[in-house]
Amino acid sequence: MYFPLTPEQDMIRMMVEQFARREVAPGAAQRDREAKFPEELIGKLAGLGLCGMMVPAAYGGSEVGAVAYVLAVMEIARACASTAVTMSVTNLTSEPLARFGSEEQKQRLLKPLAGGEVLGAFALTEPGAGSNLAEIQCQARRRGSRYRLNGTKIFITNGGYAGLFFVLARTGESGGRGLSAFMVEKGAPGLKIGRSLSKMGLRASNTVELLFEDCEVPEENRIGKEGDGGRVVAEALASGRIGIAAQATGMIRACQEEAVKYANERRQFHKPLSAHQAIQWMIADIATGREAAELLTLSAAALKDREQPFTKEASMAKLFASETLNRSAYQALQIHGGYGYTSEFPIERIYRDARVTTIYEGTSEVQRMLIARETLK
Ligand SMILES: Cc1cc2nc3c(=O)[nH]c(=O)nc-3n(C[C@H](O)[C@H](O)[C@H](O)COP(=O)(O)OP(=O)(O)OC[C@H]3O[C@@H](n4cnc5c(N)ncnc54)[C@H](O)[C@@H]3O)c2cc1C
Repeated sequence: MYFPLTPEQDMIRMMVEQFARREVAPGAAQRDREAKFPEELIGKLAGLGLCGMMVPAAYGGSEVGAVAYVLAVMEIARACASTAVTMSVTNLTSEPLARFGSEEQKQRLLKPLAGGEVLGAFALTEPGAGSNLAEIQCQARRRGSRYRLNGTKIFITNGGYAGLFFVLARTGESGGRGLSAFMVEKGAPGLKIGRSLSKMGLRASNTVELLFEDCEVPEENRIGKEGDGGRVVAEALASGRIGIAAQATGMIRACQEEAVKYANERRQFHKPLSAHQAIQWMIADIATGREAAELLTLSAAALKDREQPFTKEASMAKLFASETLNRSAYQALQIHGGYGYTSEFPIERIYRDARVTTIYEGTSEVQRMLIARETLK
């Protein structure tokens, strides 16, 4: 693949690759088995500046940009998808603050988040509002200089460990225009962490329900004006989708590596699997998908770094990389035969972890809606 990287971007990629190989990959299978959150890795990720990669240094970030960010997510995801999504969501939480936060909010809330002192969570989804966020019911009622939040959020990544929650809630009329964005701090009265969800994959990542019961949030924690929530979220999600595209792309690489290794080692019909043409074709498809996913993802990130429109490209990268990953995981497991169906080989975990990438941060159907809307303009 040819994609020009600056010396700094290349150095970050190499640094994260080494870190992932040394620190992230070795415990991945055990964390998955025990559904154990990678808490011990968070401080190390923060130490390497991987928690606020697109945030200016003045606000605690490492300010290396979106291309460096996706390169880092790819390397972490190649080693452990659960750790990658934990890192990606905390980066996502800083986006609305960096883009729409006041100077005071950036100093008070963004700095600790981007510096990795606290973990971020991004709370949109509700039991009755998934793909259509305009159906959000969580209410934020104003009382003087404070808001009272009431409602339930579900599927919130990092929720049990986060120090800061981005929350979308209703302050006005029904539909997307009545939504406002808030930053809710851990320990806010009335914020309760609900049950933790048991998942088929990404078992080491933390996914919880959040309950808001007369949760008090000061006006100073509202991001943007009342009613701006939909716009704030749309911009953050476009950026988030580049992160999920990067996660999926790193995992395609893992599929390729596992498939190649196994196909070269295992012999059937008196020769290695890799000498059979049917196996070679599957490996060729995985390798081609990986290159295409990398290019789409890096290209969307480069547009963001140049401050050019990137929403459609982010959706394309997310759609393509996540669908390609699921096909690649299927093929890589097929190459492993029955052994791929056991937890003795990493491909079994990768296959389960892959499934969610076509679902969260907008399903494939939602990405197609967004791409079609832009293309038909
Ligand atoms: C592991 C995990 C982590 C997550 N982390 C977070 C998080 O941190 N924060 C957060 O806010 N959310 C999170 N989510 C929630 C995720 O973003 C939602 O699950 C997703 O947006 C889909 O919503 P839903 O599950 O309610 O499905 P629904 O919206 O009910 O959709 C069900 C199906 O119908 C399809 N569909 C819906 N509408 C249409 C349409 N108009 N046309 C065609 N098809 C349609 C969908 O594509 C999907 O296939 C997470 C989910 C998971 C599984």
